[in-house]
Amino acid sequence: MNNDKSGKAKSAQHSSGSRWLKCVATNGTIRGVALEATGLIRELAKLHKLNGMQAQGLGEAVMAGLLVSSYCKAGERVNLNIRGSGQFTQGLVDANPDGTVRGYVIPREPKDAFFGEHNEFGPWGNGSLSILRKKGDAGSQPYIGTVPLITGHLAKDLTFYWFQSEQIPSAVGLAVTVDGDEVVTAGGFLVQVMPQASPEEVKLVEKHIQEIDSLTAELSRENDPLKLLARIFQSTAFVLLEDRPLTAYCNCSRERAIRALKLSGIEEVSDLLKTEGKASLNCEFCTKEYTVDADGLRELIASMT
Ligand SMILES: [Zn+2]
Repeated sequence: MNNDKSGKAKSAQHSSGSRWLKCVATNGTIRGVALEATGLIRELAKLHKLNGMQAQGLGEAVMAGLLVSSYCKAGERVNLNIRGSGQFTQGLVDANPDGTVRGYVIPREPKDAFFGEHNEFGPWGNGSLSILRKKGDAGSQPYIGTVPLITGHLAKDLTFYWFQSEQIPSAVGLAVTVDGDEVVTAGGFLVQVMPQASPEEVKLVEKHIQEIDSLTAELSRENDPLKLLARIFQSTAFVLLEDRPLTAYCNCSRERAIRALKLSGIEEVSDLLKTEGKASLNCEFCTKEYTVDADGLRELIASMT
């Protein structure tokens, strides 16, 4: 990402300003991370042509993936897969401990066929939240944890995920505010208590869990990750471990797209050649389009026989 230059458009400045701050407190028994992701979420919402609640849903899903990846080891990869009955049918996010992320949501169609705001469930409705963690080294088994969506609010269901799947008491906040087509702020935080924490330290985090709503509201007013951590830890001293820029990044390529096409089988590819004379392959994560022309398709078919 480019460095900030004075006089540049505000959005460009925000985009490069997206980052997470990681810290520990009480000798490492409590850890925290705060996200400022306004530029990043704005960029992704524009890329996927989403606004309003859909941009919020995308933003929350992407930040949820980042929160999970923020405590993974270097080289690990996180895949978040949310299936919902509400405003979105699915959300997929790939996030990495190096701060790179890609993701998309599939809004339910038609847009208004969704239970209203007063429904007891949040925007995701009920469904499931799966988190897959893959270690960097090939051959090692990925870890997969799945929990049902209990509230349909991603931050709350993520709290439940950590408790249920990894037995880590956590407090999670996610907030995206939009004004018309524009994402105005996007931020989030995570506070976790490690197993060696004392009962007093656990109590401290429980207190934060009760304050989550006001902390989340604060996020949408002012999004300064350092101030947020100070607010979360209050009189408890914390040590900053990392200040890392967050970047939208997709590792799709023409080769991967062709490999995926190959998997659809020789009949499907022959059919495309006959009916379309080409194949257009869209990456759902970054919307990039790869086209394989007729000669390319013939070559592919030859390689499959
Ligand atoms: Zn892509």
